[in-house]
Amino acid sequence: MIIGVPKEIMKGERRVAVTPEIVSKFVADGATILVESGAGAGANFLDSEYEKAGATLIDDVTELFQKAEVIMKVKEPLFNEQTNMHEIDMMHKGQYLITFIHPASPVNHEMVQKMADKGIIGLTLDGVPRISRAQKMDALTSMSTCAGYKGVIMATDHLTKFVPQIFSAVGMIKPANVFVVGAGVSGLQAIATAKRLGAVVYATDIRPDACEQAKSLGAKIVDSGVPADIAVGQGGYANSLSNEWVQKQVSNIREAMVKADIVILTALVPGKKAPILMTEDIIKEMSPGSVVVDISVDQGGNCDLTEPGEIVQKHNVTIQGIKNIPGQVPTSSTWMFANNVYHLVSYLTKDGKINLDMSDEIVSSIMVTDGEKIVHEGTKEAMG
Ligand code: NAD
Repeated sequence: MIIGVPKEIMKGERRVAVTPEIVSKFVADGATILVESGAGAGANFLDSEYEKAGATLIDDVTELFQKAEVIMKVKEPLFNEQTNMHEIDMMHKGQYLITFIHPASPVNHEMVQKMADKGIIGLTLDGVPRISRAQKMDALTSMSTCAGYKGVIMATDHLTKFVPQIFSAVGMIKPANVFVVGAGVSGLQAIATAKRLGAVVYATDIRPDACEQAKSLGAKIVDSGVPADIAVGQGGYANSLSNEWVQKQVSNIREAMVKADIVILTALVPGKKAPILMTEDIIKEMSPGSVVVDISVDQGGNCDLTEPGEIVQKHNVTIQGIKNIPGQVPTSSTWMFANNVYHLVSYLTKDGKINLDMSDEIVSSIMVTDGEKIVHEGTKEAMG
């Protein structure tokens, strides 16, 4: 099997799909790995290390696309300004594409159609189900871990105060208050990070299980006031709340938001628009210099003043809507991503080739196009 790893071309993207360590694992399994020269530089993985691990470096990315049977990337295919071609147009019929495709998102519908027209077999990493046997393959969860950690670091960087309690000759400075809204994967990592930095950490979630986990990490729980039978749906996931319940929840958590020096917003129901839990009137009441990091920005954000991709000052509060937070910790996020993709590809490979069994929940959840048509249910629904 020939696997091609191009350099990521999205602006500011520093991750890459494989590390040298993962190259050597694929090579040991019998695969040939082609890596575009300089592909790992942004994450501090050097060409010489890839070569030492057994990869073949290729300068001309069109050659890489032409030779590979499987293309492994981090971000969805985009227009490559260097070759003046869309990455899909560099691909060929029957070629596999493994990446975050985000196929249900309307901005990607045209690209997904193009993949089907071209005869590409597209497998999306955001489709990996959150089930125990797929945990090692779940790159989305890894990226949420990165976002929770780095989200707190980014917030502290903008905070004009100390985070931990400081004792000095001129007196004691109180620790900062951090409030984490949503205690899923990124929220729990944010809680752990803020605790390690010495903050007083508060957290809320509408799922009692998530609150228990937050508590076990040392957070003080702020009750959302939403009863479990309304908050928790099938499979233990959060339900999307009615406007009425969101309003009740906001009035319950409002005081904790106003008193916080840092608010980390991560509330999300998979496949839905993120609930607006922080409104301008709450921001106005916060202390000057407070910081909000809206990690749920890709799903519209939890704060109505968040500007996607931007860091803005509103009413003396910094509101961060940075989109690609894992890309800000490219070495660690690449390491996690590459390991997840290695586990996925190994799982899908039989006798040295990718072999897809559509009756397998993992395969049916990740397959977007089957080499002829769009097969992803969520995407077909979204495209009408
Ligand atoms: P997750 O599903 O593990 O956690 C979301 C949590 O929100 C769940 O625990 C859920 O119960 C909770 N929730 C739902 N509705 C709520 C409400 N009304 N009030 C309080 N809590 C509520 O999701 P995750 O993997 O932690 O991802 C969280 C967000 O982070 C997503 O929007 C994801 O896209 C985003 N993310 C962003 C980046 C980035 O670079 N900006 C990177 C990775 C993840």
